[in-house]
Parts: sequence; C-alpha cells; structure tokens
Amino acid sequence: MDWENFRSRGKDAADWAADYHATLRERPVRAQTKPGEIIAQLPASAPETPETIDAILHDLEHTIMPGMTHWQHPRFFAYFPANAAPVSVLAESYVTAIAAQCMLWQTSPAATELETRTCDWMRQAIGLPKGFSGVIQDSASTATLCAVLTMREKTLAWEGNKKGLSSQKPLRIYASAEVHTSIDRAIWISGIGEANLVRIPSRGPTRAMDVTALQHAIDADRAAGFLPAGIIACVGGTSAGASDDIAAVMDVAAAEGLYTHVDAAWAGAAMICPEFQSVWAGIERADSVVLNPHKWLGAQFDCTTHFLQDPASLVKTLAIHPEYLKTDGADGGIINYSEWSVPLGRRFRALKLWFLLRAHGLNGLRDMIRNHVSWAQGLAARLAETPGFEIVTAPMLSLFTFRYVPQGTQDSDALNQQLVNAINADGRIYLTQTRVDGDLVIRFQAGAWTCTAEDVDTAYDVITDIAPTLT
Ligand SMILES: *Cc1c(COP(=O)(O)O)cnc(C)c1O
Repeated sequence: MDWENFRSRGKDAADWAADYHATLRERPVRAQTKPGEIIAQLPASAPETPETIDAILHDLEHTIMPGMTHWQHPRFFAYFPANAAPVSVLAESYVTAIAAQCMLWQTSPAATELETRTCDWMRQAIGLPKGFSGVIQDSASTATLCAVLTMREKTLAWEGNKKGLSSQKPLRIYASAEVHTSIDRAIWISGIGEANLVRIPSRGPTRAMDVTALQHAIDADRAAGFLPAGIIACVGGTSAGASDDIAAVMDVAAAEGLYTHVDAAWAGAAMICPEFQSVWAGIERADSVVLNPHKWLGAQFDCTTHFLQDPASLVKTLAIHPEYLKTDGADGGIINYSEWSVPLGRRFRALKLWFLLRAHGLNGLRDMIRNHVSWAQGLAARLAETPGFEIVTAPMLSLFTFRYVPQGTQDSDALNQQLVNAINADGRIYLTQTRVDGDLVIRFQAGAWTCTAEDVDTAYDVITDIAPTLT
C-alpha cells in the first residue's frame, strides 16, 4: 500500500468508524467469544506473499470484530471508561499520519511546546496552582513509577541510580490498602520491594487512609532504622472510589519531609468541575499528581497528564545525556520531555488533548461529567429502594458498588458473581465485580462518552430483570 492508495482507503476507514459507532448499541458490550476461538481462525505463520487490503479488511470484519469488547459502547459500565471522543480520534489520525518521535524539543518543537501549553490548560482547569508543570505520560502507571523513582533518588541523595540499593537502608513508601496495583508495580520495579510498601488501613465512608496510623508507621520505621521516602495518596480508588484526606496526608508529609504523589487517574478528570474539587482539598501541596484524560475526559488512549511542583527532581532522576541525544538548543531554556519519562521515544500525545479541549470547551466536558455523576446517583437511589438490593459504597462521583442479597441469601458472594456473569452474558450492559471489606460486590460507573440517561435506565432494567431469575 502506498499513500495514493491510502487516500481512498483512509476515507473508507472514516466511513467505517462512523458506521461502527452508529451501530454500537446493537452489539453486545462484552465480547461473547470463548478463549482460543479467535486464534484458531488465524494462520499460524505470516504470509510470504502480499495479500490484498480487501482480504485483510474482510478478516477484520469477520474474524476480529466479533471478538472485540466495545469500550466505546454507551452502556459500558465496567472498570473505568477509556473514552475516545470523535475529535480525539480525528486528532490521532493526524498524529499517526505525521508519525513524529517527540523525544526532544528539537525532534518536534511544536509537539513539545503544545504539550507544555495543553498541560497548563489542564492545570488551570483542575485548579492546580501556577507552580505545577505538566508532562504527558503514556499511562498513570508510568507517572507513578516516575514519582516512586524520584522518592527513591531524593531520599538517597541521587545515589540509587549509581550504586544500586544493596548498600542502602531499606526505603519505605506509605499508601492506603485501597491504592491501584500500579503502585505495587512501581515499588517492585524501583527495587524498593513490596515488603517496604507500608499499607495504612483506611476508614470511614470515603475509605481514606488513617493519618494517625500513617504517622505511627513513619515513627516506628524511623526508630527501626528504615528510610521513609514518600507517601502515595489516592483520590477515586479503582475498586470503590476510596479517597484519602489529601490535606491531612500533606500535613504529615510536610512535617516528615516526605515526597508525595497523588493518584487521581480516574477521578482527576472530574476536577474540571469546581464543585467536585473539594474531594482533593489540599492538592496544591502535593509534589506529584497524576490524572488520565484518556479515561473519563475523552482523550483517546494513551494520554496521562502528570503534574509536578519540581520537575527538576524528576529530571535529575531520569535524564541521561549521551552524545547522540545532544542538541545545540540544549541550553536555550527548552524542554526535552523524554527526560521526564521512562521511555525515550514519545508519541505526539498533546495534539488530541488540544483538539478535545478546543472542540468541546471545558464547559462541554463539564456537562458530560455532571450528567454521569447525577445519573449514577439516580441509579444508586433507585437500587437502594428496590427490594433485595443494597448499596455497599455510596457514589464517589459516578462510581458506586452494590449487591443483591434477597431474603434468605446463603452465599452472597456466589450469588453476586452469578449475577455479574448473567448480566454480561445478556450483553446489553457490561459491569464488573470487586471486593469491599472482603465481600464480593458489583461495581457500577457511568462514564461512557455517548451514555445517555436512558442507557442508565436500561442498566436498572437489566439488573432488576435478571437478578430474580437466579437460583
Ligand atoms: C486506571 C487507574 C490506574 C492505571 O492507569 P493506567 O494509565 O492504565 O496505567 C491507576 N490508578 C487508578 C486509580 C486508576 O483508576
């Protein structure tokens, strides 16, 4: 295929995309395939001779698409959304056509400067003060790894990268038991070790970490000769929306001189609505904050915004200057964003955020988020009134958990797992389960870009139609 063929095939792809999205409601949300069903239809080796684009597209339609779970389905209520607003998909088509490597300022000055500007738009939108600088990472997991590496290197006076950790006292990182597994991974990868991730119990309706217990853990660790290095707080935990009291955590961090990272990967998007910003009151004192515009906000995956009070510490942790990366602009006050992230190569991610923010305006995005929050609250209220159902964790923004425990239920975990399975086999909606205080519960989040109030009503109908049929 050459670029002249691309001209017409690209137009076909645009038509295909519009048709696909127009027919999403007719498709089961979750793929209804069995393990191995797709791979069995794929030749064991690559073709030796070229095949036609028509043959490839035929197989896309008949082999691949039936095995896809439709993340852009309006009734996708599982996990968290991975919204791709049409305008961000459009932006991505330009990005892939340009196909630039945006690792250094010089390798794409416009990409670097647009990244600086769009991150600053986001900073203002979510109410972070001027002192924060932003960078777009590939994922919240990477941003958290960057933060943990910075905690490690700052605490070891930048000796860890050089000498390794074997001659050091063990570092300690503190987080609640509700944080995402990307925190565990960052602790593993950074060489700090899972045993040194101190999990502070959480309590109360927000499932916030107990800051008295946090203080005690730090005191005990110092007395025992450990090196406290940082605290990771979360706002909108993945399981049930757990949110730490950021101001209280920052008080402890300030008194102890500890670096802080706040994981608001999902909930951070809602901070563009001033009325929700109270959930992270105190955020202006964090060292590092991550949120994913690629979740709720609609900037097609991948697009993680990572904000730092002092990017110099991160750069000191990650920057390497071999001869082949030196550029003559190096001391002209420019930013080489590859020094702010683990991979060297970088996609041009700022373009889709720029298209998105301009095409919808902050108000357009706020309307969507406010709708989702109010629809989720409405559904939680309806389920709470429905015999047999109980709300386990109240809505945190648009996420809540519930379970079905009709009178005489013997094994609630088994019944609720059966309910999730039956709902997902039905196909009209897609939900997932989690555990809250040991009990299996069902998660619901409203967040799909094209979700409507009627789609949330459908969720109520599906849940309450299917539940009584279980035995
Ligand atoms: C989704 C999520 C993550 C992981 O995000 P990635 O960008 O996929 O790495 C981390 N923390 C929370 C709270 C999340 O919701």
